[in-house]
Amino acid sequence: EPAPKPITSAKDPRFAPTLYAYVGQDRSWTLDFYRQNGGYEAVQRAFGLGADAVIDEVKKSGLRGRGGAGFATGLKWSFMPLKDGKPHYIICNADESEPGSFKDRYLMSEDPHQLIEGMIIAGYAMRASVGYIYIRGEYVHAAERVWAAIHEARAAGLLGKNILGSGFDFELQVHRGAGAYICGEETALMNSLEGLRANPRLKPPFPAAAGLYGLPTTINNVETFCAATQILRYGADWHAGMGTEKSKGMKLFQISGGVARPGVYELPLGTTFRELIYDWAGGPLEEMKAIIPGGSSCPMLPWNDKILDTPMDYESVAAAGSMLGTGGVTLIPKADCIVNATWNLVRFYGHESCGKCTPCREGISSWMTRMYEKLVRGHGQPGDVQLILDMSQNIGGRSFCALADACLGPVESSIKLFPEEYEALATTQKTLYPARKRWRDE
Ligand code: NAD
Repeated sequence: EPAPKPITSAKDPRFAPTLYAYVGQDRSWTLDFYRQNGGYEAVQRAFGLGADAVIDEVKKSGLRGRGGAGFATGLKWSFMPLKDGKPHYIICNADESEPGSFKDRYLMSEDPHQLIEGMIIAGYAMRASVGYIYIRGEYVHAAERVWAAIHEARAAGLLGKNILGSGFDFELQVHRGAGAYICGEETALMNSLEGLRANPRLKPPFPAAAGLYGLPTTINNVETFCAATQILRYGADWHAGMGTEKSKGMKLFQISGGVARPGVYELPLGTTFRELIYDWAGGPLEEMKAIIPGGSSCPMLPWNDKILDTPMDYESVAAAGSMLGTGGVTLIPKADCIVNATWNLVRFYGHESCGKCTPCREGISSWMTRMYEKLVRGHGQPGDVQLILDMSQNIGGRSFCALADACLGPVESSIKLFPEEYEALATTQKTLYPARKRWRDE
């Protein structure tokens, strides 16, 4: 597994990295290292506050889910029926599979105790006695590090019965995925954990009402649990003091594509695209034409001054016509064929469709993928672009889960932004931007 890319140390000392503070340091994944740097003090503080106060603290911090949707974490935790006396579960969604997203793998492989601590805190707050960490199958190294850390924590009395003398019992298990993107959808993930085929379930009921084995369950992303650790360590006010009015805290932004220093950068929410791309990632390697702002499910945005000066927070990116998603920024060069690039994404979604519902199985896996293949391979016909748009309208909002809609984001936005590239392929069967050698081909 390649070493992590350069990690930020923010310019403003108030915004020093916390989630990634130790990523890349020698033996940062061990319990000794973690404890020498204040590890497991947050869980002590949580036990001192009491379970309800922990939920209040997370609410007050303004933390929003870092898996992509940005749902308020404290609110989600408060949906758990706390006094029902039933077993409760918490699950860490570590199935990070969104193209352009690669922040959680380093949290797990470099600082697994931060995640474990966050899950103990969440389990305590939500009266859960078991937590599952569902790790993407391809993340072999990260899964091994998390398992090793769980064993270390258990041996030190940080997991198991009566943790740190608090009276709270909590166990953690790792479950490895097998390479399916759909397992990151929370209800498909629960089916997979139960040993069933990973098809999504209907929502509502949301997991807090009926989740794993039909019992109250809360699912959060790796970064969200890690942020909870930091909130309990430094306090809700500290967290709420960073970011923007409605998007609080630090965020792990990822950047890939033609920039000098691709990687993960921990920056306050509300940092502009320009700052991430130029100040942190060293600037683009060539002229760009589009930005995917938050992982491939988010519609593309044009490369212009207005977008570059847009703050990367949930509200501003939505106002610009896309979503912040996972904060996985991808740049698309001017000299690349947008239809080919979009086909790459469409093929991905087509391949990853679970096949349960017709709009996604027939619409994305079959029709949409084949229409793109037809265009890119030089068999386009006049009217093809309109046909893609018609299909898109018929699929949108009609599929069982968000996967099909996610595919339509790049499809519709790329047609809107670059109609001439589509029309050229449909009418002349030739791309305006033929394939070429790239920055890292050698
Ligand atoms: P969502 O809006 O359905 O839900 C987000 C979370 O909030 C879920 O846990 C859901 O249960 C909860 N929630 C939402 N409304 C609720 C309500 N009314 N009551 C109780 N709980 C509620 O979003 P989603 O489909 O889970 O995720 C979509 C996002 O995931 C996209 O923005 C995309 O960027 C991102 N994504 C991320 C990855 C990744 O690898 N991290 C992969 C694919 C997609």
